[in-house]
Amino acid sequence: MSEQLAGGCACGATGYRLKSAPMFVHCCHCTACQTETGGAFVINALIESDRVETLAGVPEPVMTPSESGRGQQIWRCPVCRVALWSNYGGAADMLRFVRVGTLDEPGRLTPDVHIYTRSKLPWVRLPEAAPAFEAYYDRKQMWPPESLARLAALFG
Ligand SMILES: [Zn+2]
Ligand SMILES: [Zn+2]
Repeated sequence: MSEQLAGGCACGATGYRLKSAPMFVHCCHCTACQTETGGAFVINALIESDRVETLAGVPEPVMTPSESGRGQQIWRCPVCRVALWSNYGGAADMLRFVRVGTLDEPGRLTPDVHIYTRSKLPWVRLPEAAPAFEAYYDRKQMWPPESLARLAALFG
């Protein structure tokens, strides 16, 4: 990636930048994401937490239900409460799901996969070539080898 991706909340109290490209990008159509965002889906860029540099503010974690039932910590601006990223499954803050809509240029990341399409809103039409799954998917089949290696390095 030629230029690093940067983003932040709505009020400007928090800001961040990604030190590299993400490992993978999800577009999640699950009912939990719909409820949390008030939208049709959420777009999450999966990246190592230490590759997310906070430029301003200190985001605060809020424990929130997730589709898996294990919950997720959503990190929010302490002032405007906009969600910047989350960690899933009660894991330590090692892997972040950065909300692509909070990037200054969200169009620079395209979803690599659409998940939980079983609850996709009926009027949402997915691009024909886009991989889509009723629920979750097999990471080993879908992720590029470099990204799998990054994930293994993170949790290995
Ligand atoms: Zn804010
Ligand atoms: Zn979801």
